[in-house]
Amino acid sequence: MSVPTISINPEGLKNFALTQTETIHYQSTPDELVQDTLRLGEGVLNDSGALVIATGEFTGRSPLDKFTIKDETTEDTVNWNNFNIPMEDKYFHIIQKKIIDYLGAQKEIWVRDCYACADPRYRINIRVATEKPWSNLFANNMFLRPTEEELEGFKADWHIYAAPGLLLDPKECGTRQHNASVISFKHKTILIAGSGYTGEIKKGIFTVLNYLLPQEKNVLSMHCSANMGKDGDTAIFFGLSGTGKTTLSADPDRKLIGDDEHGWTEDGVFNFEGGCYAKLINLSEEKEPQIFRAIRPGAIVENTRFFEGTNKINFDDSSITENTRVSYPLEFIDNALEPSIGAVPKNIFFLTCDAFGVLPPISKLTPGQAMYQFISGYTAKVAGTEAGVTEPKPTFSACFGAPFLPLHPGKYAEMLGKKMQEHHVNVWQVNTGWTGGPYGTGSRLKLAYTRKMIAMVLEGKLDDVETITDPVFGVAVPKEVPGVPTEILTPRNTWQDKVAYDEKAQYLAGLFVKNFEKFAANVSEEIRAAAPKV
Ligand code: ATP
Ligand code: MN
Repeated sequence: MSVPTISINPEGLKNFALTQTETIHYQSTPDELVQDTLRLGEGVLNDSGALVIATGEFTGRSPLDKFTIKDETTEDTVNWNNFNIPMEDKYFHIIQKKIIDYLGAQKEIWVRDCYACADPRYRINIRVATEKPWSNLFANNMFLRPTEEELEGFKADWHIYAAPGLLLDPKECGTRQHNASVISFKHKTILIAGSGYTGEIKKGIFTVLNYLLPQEKNVLSMHCSANMGKDGDTAIFFGLSGTGKTTLSADPDRKLIGDDEHGWTEDGVFNFEGGCYAKLINLSEEKEPQIFRAIRPGAIVENTRFFEGTNKINFDDSSITENTRVSYPLEFIDNALEPSIGAVPKNIFFLTCDAFGVLPPISKLTPGQAMYQFISGYTAKVAGTEAGVTEPKPTFSACFGAPFLPLHPGKYAEMLGKKMQEHHVNVWQVNTGWTGGPYGTGSRLKLAYTRKMIAMVLEGKLDDVETITDPVFGVAVPKEVPGVPTEILTPRNTWQDKVAYDEKAQYLAGLFVKNFEKFAANVSEEIRAAAPKV
């Protein structure tokens, strides 16, 4: 392969030269990046050969420090809100200069060409320049990997700069604090400073695609996982963080299309990415064998600890963060589909982790209910490690992905509604959260049961079963699911204290209705009628 001239500067900004950088590692292999990380003392190998690193101060995304440049391209199109925080273009130039100067002053940096979108019609080329070799390996794991042929004459559509060690002065840079992720649609550039959390890199590009694809390409972008059955039927799984997208899409009986970000075109769905980013907390080989086995050479494990005196990861240790992760290329999962493109979905699952323990573990939604749930985007997180906090924290995040959606949620909802109608897709709600009582009293639904319920849907075993209508949420709950204890299907039956159940269900119904107030005027009567009964 002939190495192209490396300009890490986007067109028009060539003045910022990387004058002092002695070495630009271009397109290093995974093994080289692992060796570079080890050489710099920034990581170690675990007993199965994966690279274990710490991302530093940030072990998760920092939504309050994510900015979108407000300029003539975005001011009327971006839905400015708490997730789409405006920043003036002048600050983009200040921060970009700082990053380029900073990277330029490093002894060595890593540059990689890769792309997003498995469907060639929508492909965007990305050039990533990173301060750390492991951030570069992350880009290699998570984005799609061009062949040597494709690298000849590679032209980047977008640039990403990641400089975790660069601390910004908020006064000078127009930021909230010392770190920021900045997206400029005009300059087609993402700047990441002050945070080493690798997820910022992938979710930055996801945000870009959520802006471009629906507006310019008539493709619905979705925060969901996807897999394909033996007959070629596609299932997609929407859900907020921690609801089970990655876990449930890794299914030995189905081919994995992708674990987090997809587009829905006229004729099918495609993965935006080339890898998975799985949670590791409480991982076991027995419950999640595919993810466990992906922890091997080339994978990056983030923010875990070893059992003392060993290189064996203690998956139960959350002392650095609850959000321990592993990134790996899709092909580390045995039955990954290549290329990651599937047919139009036959089944859609809305995953929610209801820590109140009142939503049924599986139910079928009418088209109106499906739209209502999609727009609501409900999940509930359990209280963190804060002392004395026992009450689950409800979250409503439109389209199950508000932090990554630059356009108004109505745009995505309208597109999904049309597609569901046109293709007669079955929509199911799956509660992967609590049963037998809320967090603190009940317990999380057994993963094996959730998997079984989903498998039964996908095998068509629930097509004609008798259902009971949930009196509060109105959804159709199967009376029986083969292989699953009948008593868990109706949540009220699993609670000892029925009065407490009814109160909690009413409480959650009230939250739904309150949250929906801001959308109610702009949706049809059919969707409004799908509200829970208060
Ligand atoms: P993100 O968007 O942050 O990647 P995700 O939707 O992909 O989140 P997962 O990584 O699949 O979420 O996380 C689900 C977590 O919940 C896993 O750690 C899984 O082991 C655990 N879990 C426990 N019980 C269940 C269940 N019944 N169904 C699904 N996941 C469960
Ligand atoms: Mn995931």
